[in-house]
Amino acid sequence: MLLNETPRRKRTGYPSAKPNSSYNIFITPQSGGVLDPRRNKGARIAVIGAGISGIAAANVLQKNGFEAVVFEKSENLGGGWAVTYPGIHLQNTFASYHLSDFPWAFKPDLHPSGAQIMRYWNEAVKHLQLDVRLGHEVLALEEQANGWLLRYKNQKGVHEEMFKYAIIAVG
Ligand SMILES: Cc1cc2nc3c(=O)[nH]c(=O)nc-3n(C[C@H](O)[C@H](O)[C@H](O)COP(=O)(O)OP(=O)(O)OC[C@H]3O[C@@H](n4cnc5c(N)ncnc54)[C@H](O)[C@@H]3O)c2cc1C
Repeated sequence: MLLNETPRRKRTGYPSAKPNSSYNIFITPQSGGVLDPRRNKGARIAVIGAGISGIAAANVLQKNGFEAVVFEKSENLGGGWAVTYPGIHLQNTFASYHLSDFPWAFKPDLHPSGAQIMRYWNEAVKHLQLDVRLGHEVLALEEQANGWLLRYKNQKGVHEEMFKYAIIAVG
């Protein structure tokens, strides 16, 4: 399976997930089309890691009708950007660094600072209404007949939850 963002560009050869969506999930023939939103509408998908990869994946999944739940072991989202050194700036310019459907809501530096990047991702998660669970460390994923049993721990202890699919985005 290939997750991809293709704003305003129609590709041929793969099913378009949602006619008016700027995001598509392309299903490779090898995957057997298991994540085809037309056949798995509403399926619960666990995304492990709330760095850029996990957030972007959850956004695409949610846009395509899946229920995406992001588990993040630390108390901050943003992955590497939440733990980097003071004074860091993005090497990209801000214009080339944002989700297709959520441009910067404030004016950052040309090369945004670490704090600005963190503000961007926090605003994006809030605006896109993504279900991101901070302080939830995934301990294990066990394959079952009907999906994946995910074991995680948070302040309240160790818990288990079932998901149809799981995406590992732990950096
Ligand atoms: C100094 C530096 C400069 C950089 N500059 C740029 C740049 O200019 N432009 C650019 O595009 N990229 C840049 N990068 C790279 C960018 O930071 C990474 O590509 C990006 O952070 C990767 O995101 P990710 O989501 O794949 O992984 P990560 O950011 O590593 O996120 C993974 C997340 O998974 C969580 N996790 C891990 N295990 C578990 C578990 N068991 N349960 C729950 N959660 C878990 C972690 O806590 C983390 O939050 C830079 C990196 C560095 C170090």
